[in-house]
Amino acid sequence: MDGAQVGALEREMDARRHLLSPAEEMAKLGSTSRPLLAYGEGIHVVGTNGRRLIDGPAGMWCTQIGYARREIADAMSEQALRLSYNSPWYTVNSPAAELSARIAAMTPGDLDRVFFTTGGSTAVDTALRFTEFFNNVLGRPLKKRIIVRKDGYHGSTSLTAACSGREGNWPNFDIRQDRIAFISSPNMRLAEGRSEAEFLDFLVDEFSSKLAELGPDTVAAFLAEPLQASGGVIIPPTGYHARIKAICEANDIVYISDEVVTAFGRCGEWFASEKVFGVVPDIITFAKGVTSGYVPLGGLAISERLLARVSGDNARGSSFTNGYTYTGHPVSCAAALANIKVIEGEGILEHVRDVSGYFAEALNSLSGLPLVADVRASGLVGCVECLADTERAVAGDLDRRLGARIDAICFDLGLIVRPIGHMCVLSPPLIITRAQIDEMVAILRQGILRAADELARGEIF
Ligand code: PMP
Repeated sequence: MDGAQVGALEREMDARRHLLSPAEEMAKLGSTSRPLLAYGEGIHVVGTNGRRLIDGPAGMWCTQIGYARREIADAMSEQALRLSYNSPWYTVNSPAAELSARIAAMTPGDLDRVFFTTGGSTAVDTALRFTEFFNNVLGRPLKKRIIVRKDGYHGSTSLTAACSGREGNWPNFDIRQDRIAFISSPNMRLAEGRSEAEFLDFLVDEFSSKLAELGPDTVAAFLAEPLQASGGVIIPPTGYHARIKAICEANDIVYISDEVVTAFGRCGEWFASEKVFGVVPDIITFAKGVTSGYVPLGGLAISERLLARVSGDNARGSSFTNGYTYTGHPVSCAAALANIKVIEGEGILEHVRDVSGYFAEALNSLSGLPLVADVRASGLVGCVECLADTERAVAGDLDRRLGARIDAICFDLGLIVRPIGHMCVLSPPLIITRAQIDEMVAILRQGILRAADELARGEIF
């Protein structure tokens, strides 16, 4: 490194000291060393040190069409020059209107009215605020409780964090809220010897019992991801969502499907709720893949039948006073429209459906390795769960250290793996080829084998 490079590095390190990152380890504040990325290209990102890495998690489950797409950059730049912003509180812009029509055509059932937010947390927050508004307008002030699942993740606003069942995220936050009730994660590894059908019955019975315990007149909503993504790609037993939805319908409970991860092609469809998981929800939330992560945007599609109950003659003079300065931001919506055009033009949904079996098989080829306790996949999202003792269902601190070590080895070998504790989660850009899937899984294989050796030698403890 020459003097100029050392100087640039020092300036960069100095600047980074001012950045507070998500999930910052406070004990190491100012001294953490997250890799600094310089640019992205296709399914790769490149560090400022020139290291090229396969982006295994697609950023955070979002860079569907990959990096450095001129089409998106052009659409954003054209829109920024035409109309960079307008207030959504009293005007409308064309990209937002056009995008809402496109999304309404993609969603199942009568989910034809779209509200835009700034990301996934605000999408879920708005969906929950809508159910609050809905029941107040209907004169049911007690119908406010929300049923959610352990190991779910729904965001970082106060309300959505409180609905998230990943307990590791709870310490030192005032998470508990009387209105939120948890039921089990539909994780077959927690089935305790039950068959899939028996476990499904158990989960549905548990939901019914929770409803009876709380009183159906106090429950407003059920909030669930089609598959629990951050929880470790937990795929529920077949028929799970439809059976819970039937109970929700019978008790006038709003069923919210959080598709922040699964929408926009991750599971081979625009939206996964109906076509992959067999349920038509009342509300669907989305974010991430809608712009392939080029610019922030989220939103929700709401059922017209639901809206009819609190609009027109039923509205009692009330307005749904929820919104953001950047609701339906024209540049974000233009990026989303360009993203949809690329996904359609390049047949990316068909591609995901085509390679998803290959992806699942490749991950499953790791299932005989030491440490590998379970492999799960749907579309282009998968998880290889690693445990020091593969017979255990629940991970401990050693397993999390093991997971971190596997991630670190893979990183050195040229692959980013999403480090979710002991779970190696892969959700690559949707444009990934079969050869690139092979490359990605070969690196993960090496990461697991090396970590297993280190564990056997007592180097991880
Ligand atoms: N819901 C789900 C299912 C998510 O995975 C996430 C983010 N990972 C969110 C909501 C929150 O989205 P955002 O980070 O864009 O606010």
